[in-house]
Amino acid sequence: MAETIFSKILRGDIPCHRVYEDDHVLAFLDVNPIARGHTLVIPKEPAETLDKLSDDAAAAIGRVLPRLARAVLAATGAESFNVLQNNGAPAHQAVFHVHFHIIPKHADGTGLGIGWKAIKAEDAPALAKAIAAKL
Ligand code: 5GP
Repeated sequence: MAETIFSKILRGDIPCHRVYEDDHVLAFLDVNPIARGHTLVIPKEPAETLDKLSDDAAAAIGRVLPRLARAVLAATGAESFNVLQNNGAPAHQAVFHVHFHIIPKHADGTGLGIGWKAIKAEDAPALAKAIAAKL
């Protein structure tokens, strides 16, 4: 995997506002938050996108995500939040080291804006089978 800004943060070469660290996971505040408390959670394992992450690294992230979300809510006073995880430039990924955004939704409207436009589900039975066959 190519070097990213998060590799440098993991090595301590550039600073971050750290909120959590264990053997497998680091969480820190986003440098350009879209809401107060916008936090990034990254695996220490280098992987560009979620589909390339090992089960163990994914489990380590999953284990701490709810606790981190609770802490972000408690510290900011927000009652709602989104978890966002982008993969690939067309999907808005800018840093190619897996990361989860925890983004509080505040009463002032700051937080994640979502444009959600549903398409027609045409081939759902065949598609579900095709995906299942790839697992
Ligand atoms: P993406 O669009 O890849 O899902 O989001 C990358 C996030 O990383 C952005 O929200 C951006 O603000 C954040 N980011 C980029 N560089 C740095 C940095 O040097 N430090 C911190 N703390 N966050 C960063």
